[in-house]
Amino acid sequence: MTNEQVWQAVLGEIEVSLSRANFITWFKDTFISSFENERVVICVPNAFVKKWLEEKYHKNILSALKNVTKQDIKEIIYKIELKKNNIVTFQIETNQEKKDQEINTSSTIRSTENNSNQATAASSGNSGNRFGLNPRYIFENFIVGKGNELAHAACLAVVNNLGKTYNPLFIYGGVGLGKTHLLQAIGNEAAKKTDKILYTTSEKFTNNYIQAVTSGKAKEFKNLYRNVDLLLVDDVQFMGGKDGTQEEFFHTFNELLQNDKQIVLTSDRAPKSIPAIEKRLVSRFEAGMVADIGKPDVETKIAILEKKANEKNFPLDHEILTYIADHVQNNIRELEGALIKVIAYHQFKNIQPTLKTVKDILSDYISSIQTKLLTPKEIIEAVAKFYNITYKELISPSRKKELVWPRQIAIYLIREELNTSYPAIGNELGGRDHTTAMHAYNKIYQEVKEKGNEKIKQEIESIRQLFNNSYQ
Ligand code: ADP
Ligand code: MG
Repeated sequence: MTNEQVWQAVLGEIEVSLSRANFITWFKDTFISSFENERVVICVPNAFVKKWLEEKYHKNILSALKNVTKQDIKEIIYKIELKKNNIVTFQIETNQEKKDQEINTSSTIRSTENNSNQATAASSGNSGNRFGLNPRYIFENFIVGKGNELAHAACLAVVNNLGKTYNPLFIYGGVGLGKTHLLQAIGNEAAKKTDKILYTTSEKFTNNYIQAVTSGKAKEFKNLYRNVDLLLVDDVQFMGGKDGTQEEFFHTFNELLQNDKQIVLTSDRAPKSIPAIEKRLVSRFEAGMVADIGKPDVETKIAILEKKANEKNFPLDHEILTYIADHVQNNIRELEGALIKVIAYHQFKNIQPTLKTVKDILSDYISSIQTKLLTPKEIIEAVAKFYNITYKELISPSRKKELVWPRQIAIYLIREELNTSYPAIGNELGGRDHTTAMHAYNKIYQEVKEKGNEKIKQEIESIRQLFNNSYQ
């Protein structure tokens, strides 16, 4: 019996004891990579599956393996590994009938190794990868830490149960924090199950829509977007102010949701904070799950740097990784930029990196990104200055009326400008509770965005001028 045959037989046994959904979720794309001396290595596509198999299905797997092989099994190792080409290889047979049939038997579980019919044309075609997805953006190389763990877990939950768990899933956070990576990871993962995937940005959606309407192809456009299992829309904040597009998007949205088709959206801010967006769209965006991505903490940054350095075959000392993580604070894209600079320099000069050479090479880079960096402290300073109070007073425990208002404005501005989490805002404001921050934000938000209070709007604009001026 080959490993493949053993595994098919094992899956056959396990399948009867599980619901179909569970079976597909946990056993799709698993395979045996080695089976020697009563020791079996089972490969699984991601850490989520690995954990579940180890914790929940180990016994079933063990007993099925024993049954099938009539051997004693001493050890099972679960390993995260994709079959080669698994990510960008897709089966040509795509009609629904064939799919349903496949799903009913464990043959789908076979990975796509024997699939020589690689799909070539991409539906959006810009990068040559199918669906326009970057094959590098997968769950396996996404480092999970404080700041992104909720978004990450939500994405996994969604991809394992398309259209059923959280629909829509709305991910938001500042630039370079991994939104596109996660969104496309959902696409790449889902592509193993369906080929009705559409990845787009809100700008592309808008342009395509306008083009379709002006060339009399609105119907084709509707068909294209409403006939998918998974719609991924990146950067929906750009839909603000585009009324026709919002209207079309709203209907697309409804149709997909009604049919239990999964929608995942990203944005650089929360649904409510997207300017010039219809209320009904906001409420659709919020109807499923809203997960934010915050800035990574130092440990996560170090882990990301370490992984990326190793991937590039250029491992770096912990001291150097820590230095970079400490000094590049904005986002992960800049972190990658710093790492690439360090590696390129040392490879070019053919010298070993030391803390000193790394500091030298990064000094310009760090000061250039730091000038762009606006911090909560600077916002608080600007607010205090505007209201003619001191920084200390603003963050003090005092509840005097003349301090409470500026404090609320500061909270609002920090949230709007930096997307800082409520607990972190509470900390900045002298260790206040996150509910205080949330309450303050909502209060000012209502005044500004819902009631359109001009006086407050102007105050806020003047404060913005104060801190923007120091950043130009
Ligand atoms: P966003 O869409 O939020 O602006 P991206 O998804 O484009 O950010 O991420 C920027 C870069 O950082 C990408 O190269 C991405 O792969 C990388 N990145 C972001 N978050 C992580 C993470 N948690 N682990 C590994 N790489 C990450
Ligand atoms: Mg992005």
